[in-house]
Amino acid sequence: MIMPRAKQYGFSTKAVRTGERTDPETGAVVTPIYETSVFAFTSTQQLIDAVSEKSSRDVYTRWSNPTITAAEKKIAELEGAADCAVFSSGMAAISTAIISLVSPGDHIVSVRDLYGGTVGLFSDLMSRFGVRTTFIEATNIDEISSTVRSNTKILFLETPTNPTLKLVDLQKAAEVAAKHGAKVLVDNTFASPYNQQPLQFNCHATLHSATKYLAGHNDVTAGAIAGPRELIEPMKKLRRTLGGVLDPHGAWLLLRGMKTLALRMAQHNSNGQQIAEYLENHPNVEKVYYPGLRTHPQHTLAKRQMKGFGGVVSFELKGDLNQTMRFVDNLKLALLGPSLGGAETLVSQPSTASHYFMDPDERRKAGISDSLVRLSLGIEDPEDIISDLAQAFDKANA
Ligand SMILES: *Cc1c(COP(=O)(O)O)cnc(C)c1O
Repeated sequence: MIMPRAKQYGFSTKAVRTGERTDPETGAVVTPIYETSVFAFTSTQQLIDAVSEKSSRDVYTRWSNPTITAAEKKIAELEGAADCAVFSSGMAAISTAIISLVSPGDHIVSVRDLYGGTVGLFSDLMSRFGVRTTFIEATNIDEISSTVRSNTKILFLETPTNPTLKLVDLQKAAEVAAKHGAKVLVDNTFASPYNQQPLQFNCHATLHSATKYLAGHNDVTAGAIAGPRELIEPMKKLRRTLGGVLDPHGAWLLLRGMKTLALRMAQHNSNGQQIAEYLENHPNVEKVYYPGLRTHPQHTLAKRQMKGFGGVVSFELKGDLNQTMRFVDNLKLALLGPSLGGAETLVSQPSTASHYFMDPDERRKAGISDSLVRLSLGIEDPEDIISDLAQAFDKANA
């Protein structure tokens, strides 16, 4: 039983229904966890047909598995993509995608404000294999056009960026890359497909740490890439070699989480906006970073390419490192932890977490001050998050 394709369904209907395999034998509504590493065949010919892809039967779970395929169909649909591959983590998705697209001598252009693991992939690993990366300022399209060259295979973008929530103009970036034949890959983790669909702006593929908003419950590590079949198919083949496939149980948690993506994102967006506005008016706050604020330098672009602005709000306290640590340590509802996208509100201080090992000068240049705090708002009631922040501000000042 598959979903009728009579008309174009809305986002929530797709999130709930696409990809699901209602069991024809039992009628079970929810896609089963096909917790098996291998599939058996009734004849050698049937096995040969499956291995040579003459039939669509699954053979071995590192290659494909029905629960995993269900999650891939759902993500592809939500991103408006033809195909999707899921992985055991966001980093497995990103590294497999990059390795699939470059050879020695190739060049990558990437935004500088990038997830730490991706920085490591480009700077430490890919460089060992003769692939050079030039890092550019996310907000400066002119820098993109002057940096992309004939051997540039990938323009790698993240928008909004972590942790200072800068935006990249996806439409313009895709136009520049198209002139040079470079593929535009967008890490869409912070926005989620509910808020932003990079393929609509002619970017080639969209990447996710599905650990975050897609799965949404801080209970599974997963990754995904969605895009046109000719781009994703070789990545699925490479996934067999590199081995970073998601396990069936993880795929099931991801499927389950995605059914409520629209509901959760609406609450993340609304919490983000309310708490950003609360912080902007708080006397102990120096500066707030949130694309939904009218004071955000790229607010117009945010409204053009995003439907909502997400649950990550960063801000600078008026105070030094110690006062900031005191603020963070006194939060009770917000849990101290370096992640985002789940139901629980998390807080982290980038200078002591994600950017702790960075050279202090470099860190300051990247806009990460000692008093910067990142809130990854969950879906709790905003009043409760605000009273938690209020009492922690009081204690930080005492
Ligand atoms: C968390 C994250 C990643 C890495 O994903 P994992 O699932 O932890 O491997 C990549 N990009 C962004 C923007 C992230 O937030």
